[in-house]
Amino acid sequence: MTYRTSRSRSPGGAAPTGPATLRRANLSLVLRELREHTSLSRAEIAQATGLHRATVSNLMAELLERRLVREVGVEHVGAIGRPRRAVALHGAHVGALGMEINVDYIAVHGTDLSGRSLVERRVVHDAMGSGPDSAVRRLGLVAKEAVEAMRRAGSVPTGIAVAVPGLVDVTRGVVTLAPNLHWRDLPLAEQLSSILGPRSVPVWVDNDANLAALAEYTSGVAAGTPHLVYLTGEVGVGGGIISGGELLRGADGFSGEVGHLRVDPNGDRCGCGRIGCWETKVGLAALVRAAMPEQAYGLPGMPVPDPGERVADIARGLASGDRRMTMAVAQVGEWLGLGGSILANLFNPRVIVIGGYFASLAQWLLPHAQEQLRRLVVAAPAAECRFVASTLGFGAASRGAASMVVNHIIDDPTTILDSLRRPAPY
Ligand SMILES: [Zn+2]
Repeated sequence: MTYRTSRSRSPGGAAPTGPATLRRANLSLVLRELREHTSLSRAEIAQATGLHRATVSNLMAELLERRLVREVGVEHVGAIGRPRRAVALHGAHVGALGMEINVDYIAVHGTDLSGRSLVERRVVHDAMGSGPDSAVRRLGLVAKEAVEAMRRAGSVPTGIAVAVPGLVDVTRGVVTLAPNLHWRDLPLAEQLSSILGPRSVPVWVDNDANLAALAEYTSGVAAGTPHLVYLTGEVGVGGGIISGGELLRGADGFSGEVGHLRVDPNGDRCGCGRIGCWETKVGLAALVRAAMPEQAYGLPGMPVPDPGERVADIARGLASGDRRMTMAVAQVGEWLGLGGSILANLFNPRVIVIGGYFASLAQWLLPHAQEQLRRLVVAAPAAECRFVASTLGFGAASRGAASMVVNHIIDDPTTILDSLRRPAPY
């Protein structure tokens, strides 16, 4: 599979020019090719990349020296047993740390260059109640602990990416607006780097649904599907779009705000202040209001419901044939299909992966959603598109964040080679 991040440089990195640029591009090309295959011979790499054999040998020497690739011995290919010396991606010592901060938790996922999972955990944290300063400090603390754990597992983190539920200016690492965290114009990358100290590795920030879409593309239920839409159902609804193997970001990185597609001009007021947004039809609050109105969000005197508990209650009701819940989930499923059909008409995805509570209730939602998709997608008979439930669970965004760091490493291995030479940052 191919994936390229936007060509934003590492924070603080100088743009090399001339031969250095070419070498960086060629190293990246070779690593990308190796990432897509279990192992390749030098001749195969030369053929796949169009690079000269001598150039490939030269690049390989550097990658071997840096331990980003390893020789996988002599294999015998074909009936005559022709020997083939192959190499494979290595990089067990190169770490990528992905994090997610959300309303009530911080998640971390650390991997090595090959995507092998090293650290995975979730920490309960009330980000909304604690305020941005305290939340960023806690994020820094959790990052330091994860870095330590990765070091103990033999891997040096070379970059950190943080997933945030909101609009993110990815070039500057600034959270422009995260309504559910009550954050506005927060320079998260800069603040986190400053907490991690002067020798901090590069820090990137991105939208949580974008990164979850990337996780689905690299390691989820529809991994490798180059045209894929990811939807996450929480109280809000977010989306990430992979088109032609690349994450669509738009001019400012603000694409994917699918929860605010207006689907009903006569509908309810949305948290964003507008009327009839899709998330007022399919967000968890809408489902709870229809399925168990006595537990609805926003009732005076009621505590904010625990989303996991509400979804579990509804799943139990559905399993026992509760009529009101069955009707509510059918209605949400139809709206899910209607919104999905708008996205399918726009982006022609092969798969729409649903995460969050949508995945937990998939068996009840999907028949209704799929039927709407069949009815409303213009090219439906010719262009197969199906809903599938994510299997990545709560860790999708942090897993995607780690993938993004790996993508940055592969896009620009020279930066990483530099950071590996540095002494331990913490
Ligand atoms: Zn809205």
